[in-house]
Amino acid sequence: MNRFDPKTGLFSAITQQDGIRGNSVVGITSDNAGMIWFSTDKGLSKLDPRTKSIRNYELNSGLPSNDFLENAVFRKNNQLFFGSLNGAVQFNPDSIRDDTKPFPVYITKLNVLDKARPLTSNPVVLHHDENFLSFEFAALAYVLPEQNQYAYQLIGVDKNWVQNGNRHVANYTNLSPGSYTFQVKAANSDGIWSAKGASIQLVILPPWWATWWAYSIYALLVGGAIWGYIRFYTNRIRQQQELEFNRREAEQLKAVDELKTRFFSNITHELRTPLSLIISPVEKLLAGHQFDPSTNQTLALVQRNANQLLRLINQLLDLSKLEANRMTVSLMRGEVPQFVYQVVESFRQAAEQKGVALVYTAEEFPPEHLFDADKWEKILTNLLSNALKFTAQGGSIKVTLTSVLSPVIKEVSSVQINIADSGIGISPQSLPHIFDRFYQVDYSLTRAYEGTGIGLSLVKELVELLGGTISVDSQLGVGTTFMVTLPVQPLSASTNAPKMRLSANKHTTIEQLPASTSRLNSNQPPKHEQTPRLLIVEDNSELREFLTMELSAFYHVQNAANGEAGWKLAQEELPDIVISDLMMPKLDGYELTRLIKSHPDTDHIAVVILTAKAAHHSRIEGLQEGADDYLAKPFHLDELHLRLHNLITRQQRIRDQYRRQFTLPDSPTPLDITKDPFLRRVYELLDNHLDNPSLNVDWLADQLAMSRKTLYRKIHSLIQLAPNELIRQYRLRKAIDLLRAGRNVAETTYLVGFKSPSHFTIVFKEFYQKTPTEFITTNGKNT
Ligand code: ADP
Repeated sequence: MNRFDPKTGLFSAITQQDGIRGNSVVGITSDNAGMIWFSTDKGLSKLDPRTKSIRNYELNSGLPSNDFLENAVFRKNNQLFFGSLNGAVQFNPDSIRDDTKPFPVYITKLNVLDKARPLTSNPVVLHHDENFLSFEFAALAYVLPEQNQYAYQLIGVDKNWVQNGNRHVANYTNLSPGSYTFQVKAANSDGIWSAKGASIQLVILPPWWATWWAYSIYALLVGGAIWGYIRFYTNRIRQQQELEFNRREAEQLKAVDELKTRFFSNITHELRTPLSLIISPVEKLLAGHQFDPSTNQTLALVQRNANQLLRLINQLLDLSKLEANRMTVSLMRGEVPQFVYQVVESFRQAAEQKGVALVYTAEEFPPEHLFDADKWEKILTNLLSNALKFTAQGGSIKVTLTSVLSPVIKEVSSVQINIADSGIGISPQSLPHIFDRFYQVDYSLTRAYEGTGIGLSLVKELVELLGGTISVDSQLGVGTTFMVTLPVQPLSASTNAPKMRLSANKHTTIEQLPASTSRLNSNQPPKHEQTPRLLIVEDNSELREFLTMELSAFYHVQNAANGEAGWKLAQEELPDIVISDLMMPKLDGYELTRLIKSHPDTDHIAVVILTAKAAHHSRIEGLQEGADDYLAKPFHLDELHLRLHNLITRQQRIRDQYRRQFTLPDSPTPLDITKDPFLRRVYELLDNHLDNPSLNVDWLADQLAMSRKTLYRKIHSLIQLAPNELIRQYRLRKAIDLLRAGRNVAETTYLVGFKSPSHFTIVFKEFYQKTPTEFITTNGKNT
C-alpha cells in the first residue's frame, strides 16, 4: 500500500508497522466519506487518509475469511463488496459504528520473581534483589475482548509507551533500585483507547550497602583513610627531618666538644710551661737565702700559689686525658702497704701543723704486687688532702688498708683503703653529687675551704679506669669515710714491670695544701697614734695574710678570719676602715657591713667590700648596706692602696672640718651644723651641762653608755681630739657665742664652766690668740 503525494511527487509506504494486518494488498476502494478500504490476505482494513489512522476487521469481526481474493472488489453507491476464499462480503460503511462506551483498565497481577505479590499497597515496596517483575493487566471491554489492545510504560525505564498489541503482560528484569510508576492503557476492539488507564507505583529499595548512610560511611572511611595516610606520611617526613636534625646536631656537638677538649688540653699544656718558669726561678731565689724575711715570705707565697695552680692544671690535664681515653694503666712492682704508708706519711707534717691526728693501719700481706702506683698516688692524695682540708683542729683522719682475697684462688686480688675523717661531713642531698665534675657542696659552708670540684671526679674516673670502686659514707658534722677498692695483680715470674720507686721524703706541708692555715707572724713596724687603723676580714688565709703583710707598711692592721670575729674586733678596736670579704662563713660581708653601719659605736667606720662577686646587683646590695667602697677580685694592690688612701683622706678632711669649727671663731656654732649624729649628741650633752666645771670624760662616757676606751676611739676617729680636749674646746667655742651675744667676760666664764675669769682668759688667749676682751672689741668693730 503506497500513498502518493502529488504536491511533493513522493510515495510513502503504509505497512504492517502502521497498523495494517497484511502487507499484500489484494483489493482497494474508497467510500463516500473519503475513507480508503483495502483487502489483504489477513483481513480488511480502513485507512483515514487525513489522520492516517487504520482500523482492521477480521474473521472475528464477522468476516467470512481473512484471506481475500485479488481484485475481488466492487463498489456501488455506498455499498462495498469484497470477495474472499470463503465467500463475499457486502456492507455499507456508514452502518459500521465504533464502540465508544468507556471501559476500565486494571492491573490484575504483579509477579515478583515468579511469585504473585498482592497489590494492596501503593507504592509497592520491593527489595533490591526483587527485580524480576511481570505485570498483568486487563481491559474490561467485552466486545471481542481478544481484540483489545494494550500499551504500557514504566516511567523511569521506558521513554515512550510500549505498544503491546493484545498481549496483557509486561515483563521487566534487572531493575535498579529507585522509584517507578507502571502505567497501562488499553483500546477496545474498535481501537478506542480508554480515557483512564491504570497505574501503580513501585519502589525498589537500594541494598544496605547502597543506602545513603552506607555511602556516608564509605565517604567517611575513604576520607579517614586519606587523612590517615597524609598524617602518616607527614609524620614520617617530620620524623625523618627530626632524626636528620638530631644527627646533625649531635655531630656538631661532638665536633664542638672535640674542639673544646683539644683547646682545653692545649691551653693547659701551654699553661704548664710558663708556670714551671715561675716555679723554678722562685725556688732558686728562695734557695739563695739572699733576701730579707719579708721578701722571702712574698716569694714563698708565689711559690705556694704557683704550685697549687700547677696541681690544678695537672688535674685538668688528667681529666682531659681520661675523656679522650688516652690515659693508660702502667703497672709497677711494689709493696702495697708500704706504698700507701708513704703516701699517708707525706701528709704527716701538714696534719701536725693543723693539729689533726693521722692514723694509718694496714694489714700485712705478701710482699710484692703489680699496681699503677702513679694513679694510686693521685687517688690517695686527693682523698687525703680533702680529708685534711675539711677536718678542723683536734680532729682525726684514719686510713685503713685491708686485703681482699679472690674467691677462687685464695690470693689477694684487690685492696680496700678506707679514709675516714672526723670533719664537717657532707649533707645527704650533696652526697650523690660529690663525684660530679666541678661540684662543690653548698657555697656558704665550704666557701671557707676553696677548691674547684675537680678532685673527686678525677678520683672516681681514675678508680674506674683501674677497675676499682669508690663509695662514700658521710654524716654532717660527724665525718666522712671514703672507701676505695683497687685491684692488684699477683707478681708472676714472667713480668718485668719496673720496680716502683718510693719518692724520697716527699712531704706535703701545710703550705702546699690548698687552704693553708699557716700564720704569718706579722712583723709590723712600730706605729704612732695617727697611723690609720685597718681591719681585714677575710676567710681565705692566704689572701688575708698577704693583705696584712702588704698593708702593714702603711696602716695599723688587724685581721679576722670570719665575719663574727671581724665584728667583735671592729667593736673593740674601732678601726678607721674595715676591708671585708663578701662570702664568709658564719657572718657574710653584707651582714657585717649592716652591723657596723647600724651600731652607733661603729657607724663611722668606712667599709670596703672585697669580693669575687663583681656582679652589678651584689655591688648594689653591698652599697645599700652602707659599704663605702667596693673592689672586685682579682684586684690590683695599687688600686686597693689608692682607694684606702682616698677613704682615709676623706675621713681626715671631715675631721679637720669638725676641728675647724672650734678653732675658727667666725664659723657657725658646731651644734647647728654638725651632721654626724654621734657628735651632735655629744655637743648637746655638753651644751646642757656646760656651766658645770666638773664635766669630764667619765661623765661623758657614762652619759653615752660607752666605755672610756670606746669613747676615746670614737671621738678621736671622728674629730681627732681626745674627749677632754673636745670638752675644753667646746667650752671655749661656746664662750665665743656668748661674748658675741653681749655677755661680759665674768658671766661667760661661769656659763661655760670655768672656775675663774683669769684662768678662762689665759686659756682663751692660748686658743684664739686674743683675750676675751680683745675679742669683744674687735668683734664689736667688725659688726
Ligand atoms: P674540691 O676541689 O672542691 O675539694 P672535690 O671534687 O675534691 O672538689 O670535692 C667536691 C666536694 O665534696 C667538696 O667541695 C666538698 O664539699 C665535698 N667533700 C669532699 N671530700 C670531703 C670530706 N672529706 N669531707 C667533707 N666534704 C668533702
